[in-house]
Amino acid sequence: VIHVAILGATGRMGRALLSGVFAHPQLQLSGAVTRPDDPELGLDPGGLVAAPATGFQVTADLAAGIRGAEVVIDFSRPAATLALLELAQARGVGVVIGTTGFSAEERARIREHARSLAICQAANFSIGVNVCLELTALAARLLGPDYDAEILEMHHRHKVDAPSGTALALGEAVAGAREQTLAEAAVYAREGLTGARPERAIGFATLRGGDVVGDHTVLFAGPGERVEITHRVSDRTNFAQGALRAAVWLRQGRTPGLYGMREVLAG
Ligand code: NAD
Repeated sequence: VIHVAILGATGRMGRALLSGVFAHPQLQLSGAVTRPDDPELGLDPGGLVAAPATGFQVTADLAAGIRGAEVVIDFSRPAATLALLELAQARGVGVVIGTTGFSAEERARIREHARSLAICQAANFSIGVNVCLELTALAARLLGPDYDAEILEMHHRHKVDAPSGTALALGEAVAGAREQTLAEAAVYAREGLTGARPERAIGFATLRGGDVVGDHTVLFAGPGERVEITHRVSDRTNFAQGALRAAVWLRQGRTPGLYGMREVLAG
């Protein structure tokens, strides 16, 4: 069996991961970590998802929580992810990063850690979104820059970062196919007298509300027609299954490096 710890265990994704680990034949939970002011601190992780008791508690002590783990799965916040990578460094564990909302500097630090750790990071662990990333790159390449690319996303009211990591990844797919960089092409917001749309811009629109798990549309608007590539998630277990698959994949003798869901799906 592979021993797995979860960082962000009490969250929306953390609970989906706990259920997934308890049901998985190859995985065993070795630790569950949360933030120090979490009211659910000290509870048995089994109890969080109506599963049998594990005999240990949800902890805010990261070092203790990842002790004995071969892989740590992280769906928390950027500051917690970076604290995890520092500790993982000394222990040589594999790390699956699902957290989003990293700054450019934080992303650079993740790449730095990946020189000595095997890390699998994806803004979206669903299989369907990874297919949409490929379709988006293909459409951008075939349609060319005369088709204006706009990316629309909607998430539940509790989401704290915008645009979503997945929307940014879709933007990267368009930019890559057109040999642009997202940094130079992206228009993240529009208000007031914006002027006409810059040529070759990649526009974003962010919607927040209700309990939407995650919807994304990439829209290519050309002369007299529009192409739309849409993905909708109705259940978080879909992300959790992808992250668990990545955890098992990381334990199959991966050398240090920064991997993505594409490599995991390729086997
Ligand atoms: P949430 O707010 O429900 O849960 C966050 C969890 O992290 C909680 O357990 C919280 O206590 C813990 N946490 C927060 N700050 C912490 C800290 N400093 N130290 C330790 N623990 C801390 O959030 P969520 O909806 O579960 O999403 C978590 C993250 O995963 C977000 O960044 C979200 O965008 C991302 N996400 C990624 C995917 C994907 O497929 N990659 C899918 C869904 C969500």
